Amino acid sequence: MKLVLASDNAGKLKELAALLMPLDIALIPQGVLGVPEAEEPHATFVENALAKARHAARWTGLPALADDSGLCVAALNGAPGVRSARYAGTPKSDARNNARLLEVLREVTDRRAHFVSVLVLARHADDPQPIVAEGEWHGEILHAPRGEGGFGYDPLFLDPESGVASAELPPETKNQRSHRGKAIAALLERLRAGSLLPGQGG
Ligand code: IMP
Repeated sequence: MKLVLASDNAGKLKELAALLMPLDIALIPQGVLGVPEAEEPHATFVENALAKARHAARWTGLPALADDSGLCVAALNGAPGVRSARYAGTPKSDARNNARLLEVLREVTDRRAHFVSVLVLARHADDPQPIVAEGEWHGEILHAPRGEGGFGYDPLFLDPESGVASAELPPETKNQRSHRGKAIAALLERLRAGSLLPGQGG
């Protein structure tokens, strides 16, 4: 089955491709098919994920998978949240986003934060019943970056269970623990429950 990934984020693509490996799914990044980036004007992850999936499905005529994700910091009332990718403005920069987050939290002792991933699988652009799956990963914001792996805020996110930064975890371990890993597991559960893939009837 061919799925267009409604994102050009290399970090997301790598993780989602690994997570979908057990299934016979070819994940094609939308950029390869000439799809421009969708607008993400909404205040919630689910609305943005729906908009991105619809946009990619409309451009390509293929079923589309979108991941809208971000980091929500408790002391910042959930910011950067849906603005995580552009927290330090445009063009998007992980390094500047991380520097801004450290600066904003310099005097803050409550370091609790969680990652969120909302996945939307739209069978076509006007799918009235897209599959929506969500995952969260709870941890704390470090005082300085650690590790070289992952992407985005991974160097600043402490996974309390392992005691290391997300960027220090091997990719398989991150995928087992992460918001995206949990969201994919929920999505696969729905797909295995049947009748939800195109051509399966029902
Ligand atoms: P989106 O592409 O609009 O969904 O923005 C997602 C942004 O959230 C990324 O650019 C990162 O800044 C952040 N993010 C989402 N997932 C992760 C992750 O697994 N690790 C680190 N940062 C993440």
